[in-house]
Amino acid sequence: MAASMISHHVAVVVFEHESRVGGTWVYTSSTETDPLGIDPARAVVHSSLYKSLRTNLPREVMGFSNYLFLPRVDGPGDLSRSPSHEEVLVYLEDLATEFRLEEMLRFEKEIIEVRMVEKDGKWKVRWRMRNGSGNGGGGGGGKEEEVFDAVVVCNGHYTEPRIAEIPGIDLWPGKQMHSHNYRTPEPFQDLECFRCLFPPAASAADISRDIAKVAKEVHVASRLYEVETLGIQAGYYMWLHPMIKKANEDGEVTFLDENSVCADVILHYPRYKYLFFFLETNRIMTIDDNRVRLLYKHVFPPHLAPWLSFVRLPWKYQSRWIAGALSGRIALPSEEEIMEDEKDLYSKLEALGIPKQYSHCLANSQKMYLESSRKRHAQPEVYHDEGGDETRISQVHEDSAKYPSHR
Ligand SMILES: Cc1cc2nc3c(=O)[nH]c(=O)nc-3n(C[C@H](O)[C@H](O)[C@H](O)COP(=O)(O)OP(=O)(O)OC[C@H]3O[C@@H](n4cnc5c(N)ncnc54)[C@H](O)[C@@H]3O)c2cc1C
Repeated sequence: MAASMISHHVAVVVFEHESRVGGTWVYTSSTETDPLGIDPARAVVHSSLYKSLRTNLPREVMGFSNYLFLPRVDGPGDLSRSPSHEEVLVYLEDLATEFRLEEMLRFEKEIIEVRMVEKDGKWKVRWRMRNGSGNGGGGGGGKEEEVFDAVVVCNGHYTEPRIAEIPGIDLWPGKQMHSHNYRTPEPFQDLECFRCLFPPAASAADISRDIAKVAKEVHVASRLYEVETLGIQAGYYMWLHPMIKKANEDGEVTFLDENSVCADVILHYPRYKYLFFFLETNRIMTIDDNRVRLLYKHVFPPHLAPWLSFVRLPWKYQSRWIAGALSGRIALPSEEEIMEDEKDLYSKLEALGIPKQYSHCLANSQKMYLESSRKRHAQPEVYHDEGGDETRISQVHEDSAKYPSHR
């Protein structure tokens, strides 16, 4: 986002809670004290990465069009098309150096409040140092609050777990955790592990195979599995099941087809909540069952556009669009048109029977995600290593052409 702002000559200050760039891509072996990640008093760990993670998209698709994510030629590194998380972090660090982002970054400062200043439409931003002190040094000039013309919210959306509601779970004697706190398979050694899966996400498939290498059995449940794919999976002690019907006091878990298995652990996967605890918009915006509204194209609240925006509720070319709108180079439609568009979107989702909680999941409307998902199911072992997928790459070029870079 900051790199796009520079390209559009928009002055920007970035508040970052951590002490380095990389966000989600900074792997840590640390996990939270509450394995389910729901205790509000827990010390929050931002990243949900697990150690074996490789990207689920080809590097071409993940890179910025004006700073491509190519294999490094000048030293050791991961040359593959779906590289390791370490390689993504190095790319982001290189990007930060290239665009001199560190000059605008204020590390170890946590945003605690963003509030509209009614009289002039600006935004008051309050922050505190990560260690709890209010007087920040660095670029903050010792201030605890500052006023800005616009705010772009980019706080990441893979930190606050959502837990599946399973009838009977309160009396079920096993252990539960969320994949946010999964790092390596060792703790699952020899367990009869059971994992609860909703969308067939790439990392969910990776984690189940990770665990299946060491656990006695892995049972995976999803509402999306088709009948013919259910049962044991070749090469692993891993079974696919329809959704869970209930968890029982004797330790068994029963599926919708009435089959049951005994399980030591339920690993909830991979849903997260949108959380903007710091944002005060005088009720102009709400979050209802993970639907953030009102938002034009998942980015701009109509009444506040372009002065408030959200990045990456879904995956899209948003940064350049936001930067273009803030710099005045891209005009947004009128408030009435935006409201109409929003209503239209939600009526379409309702007509398609898509629950509110998936309002910002555009994956199924994007060719490359569909292709990626098909390949993952057809060839789970090798999909990371496959060569280029021309449809995916051409979609990147198509989308990229809509919002040309000004750099
Ligand atoms: C397991 C997993 C696998 C993934 N794999 C892929 C993949 O293969 N390809 C892909 O394209 N995407 C993948 N993603 C999505 C990934 O989240 C995005 O690629 C990208 O990291 C999102 O960037 P972001 O800047 O929006 O959020 P983040 O990377 O999460 O960064 C948000 C930043 O905001 C900071 N922050 C949060 N709250 C505050 C606050 N109050 N004050 C100050 N700072 C704050 C955080 O410290 C963090 O640095 C994956 C995600 C997960 C969880």
